[in-house]
Amino acid sequence: MTTLLYSHPACEDHIPNIGHPEAPVRLNAIREALSAAEFDALDRREAPKASVEQIARAHPQDYVESILAAVPESGERHLDGDTVMTPGTGDAILRGSGAVCAAVDAVLAGEAKNAFCAMRPPGHHAEPRTPMGFCFFNQIAVGADHARAAHGLRRVAIVDFDVHHGNGTQAIFYDRNDVLTISLHGDPDLVFPHFLGFEDETGEGAGEGYNLNMVYPPNTPYSVWSQGLEKACERIQSFQPDALVVALGVDTFEEDPISFFKLTSGDYLTLGQRLARLGLPTVFTMEGGYDVDAIGVNAVNVMQGFDQAAG
Ligand code: ZN
Repeated sequence: MTTLLYSHPACEDHIPNIGHPEAPVRLNAIREALSAAEFDALDRREAPKASVEQIARAHPQDYVESILAAVPESGERHLDGDTVMTPGTGDAILRGSGAVCAAVDAVLAGEAKNAFCAMRPPGHHAEPRTPMGFCFFNQIAVGADHARAAHGLRRVAIVDFDVHHGNGTQAIFYDRNDVLTISLHGDPDLVFPHFLGFEDETGEGAGEGYNLNMVYPPNTPYSVWSQGLEKACERIQSFQPDALVVALGVDTFEEDPISFFKLTSGDYLTLGQRLARLGLPTVFTMEGGYDVDAIGVNAVNVMQGFDQAAG
């Protein structure tokens, strides 16, 4: 397995209230899946902290500073009903964005074809000025903008497979044509975030035609979902990006406690294989996935599928 793995123990020190589905045990499960002997050769790297400047490419700088200033010294601070800070949150979210920037650097340097950022909390719901849905900084967007700004890439594609719409990522790039945003997700009339993610949201201004939403009903199986995956891959190829960032949510799994779709563990292997055939430097970020018994194998299957097909 040639995947680069970025992680950091600080991601387990963000500890929302007991019973919160976005819990440290999610990362433990991924680490456990990767402790098998077949992964001994995995290139494991410690995620660095992003700088405020790096994060401020995707969010206004005063927003970045206000989020960091809001981290409590003890107890919890609720930014909304679901989005909760604890004393370890600041370090976790700085390293979450830092992981994606480092992963972009590594795949563009040719150190591997793909990199997986096994970090938490997730980021795809974080809008330019609004934390929400367990997310504070949009590390997918930070990574894409890092690829543009630090490496001079002309075009970057983002595809989001989480069952929930990547509203924050869409909002950040909605008027831009240098970053293509694609999201396959459950009907926003029925699942979070409810107010965005419909198929008639296609971008605005220069970004018109550079945002693609594909919406599916409850219980969608892979045989149907994968038609959207194929359409996404075709759109990515026609865009001719220099790199791909994947917001990998595995809350599409059939037994996920907030499940909406019916993907099986084997389907994630196929997903990874299909993405590898795009032939792009690829960075995966960890988004949702709340079935602790399955999140490890499902995330790892995507990486294994990618490695098998990338050769
Ligand atoms: Zn989700």
